[in-house]
Amino acid sequence: MSEIRVNGIVIGAKDFKEADKIITIYTLERGIVYAKLAGVKKPNAKLKAAKELFCFAQFDLVSKGDFFSVTGANIIESFFCLSQDLEKFYGACNILEVLKVVGRENENNQILFLETLKALDSIGFKGSDPKLVLIKFLIKIFEALGYDLSLNRCGKCSMPFSGKRFFSPADGVVTCLACKGAGAVEISPQVHSVMRLCQITDFDKLSSLKLPAQAAEEALSILTKNFEDKFDRKINITH
Ligand SMILES: [Zn+2]
Repeated sequence: MSEIRVNGIVIGAKDFKEADKIITIYTLERGIVYAKLAGVKKPNAKLKAAKELFCFAQFDLVSKGDFFSVTGANIIESFFCLSQDLEKFYGACNILEVLKVVGRENENNQILFLETLKALDSIGFKGSDPKLVLIKFLIKIFEALGYDLSLNRCGKCSMPFSGKRFFSPADGVVTCLACKGAGAVEISPQVHSVMRLCQITDFDKLSSLKLPAQAAEEALSILTKNFEDKFDRKINITH
């Protein structure tokens, strides 16, 4: 039996036995961790706040074989507000959906962890449009994993953009007309600028952006499709 202390965000919870839950925590120190919260469904359970989705806490865990049990949780931010508003809730769930695909057990990724916290904070406390937060989050995730979309210059010839631009799914980059690959789709200047503005604007300033809804929708659908192609997984995005 060994004890560890980790900083993590609850990204999933499942019932287990009568009164227990198994929670999925995305941790700064070791990526995804599954841990049991014993007796947590009882009304007076000491750790019941730690079973809630989005809860950001310092968790004390003991391992028995391959399994962890939570023995203590020092809550840093419950993100309770995310569960009080349907639009915020779904927006924050979308962030977790992405994280569940790219997060790995026993593999820490500090950037991914910090960007997730910033995204949840932006939706919960900064009044940002969850759609723009997701656009920025996806762009950040691509960058963090080494798939730069090349939003500022053609991803093939590196020339600054002028005239038409395209997204090439096979390469996962934005290109000029001369460099577009098979299956490339043209992206309008509006959609391109939504992506660029989301890329360069900090999470806590996203609420100041007033962007055309249709272009944001299109940008999100291109990014989601690109994400699914890259990771060969469907993501369950609600919007
Ligand atoms: Zn080019």
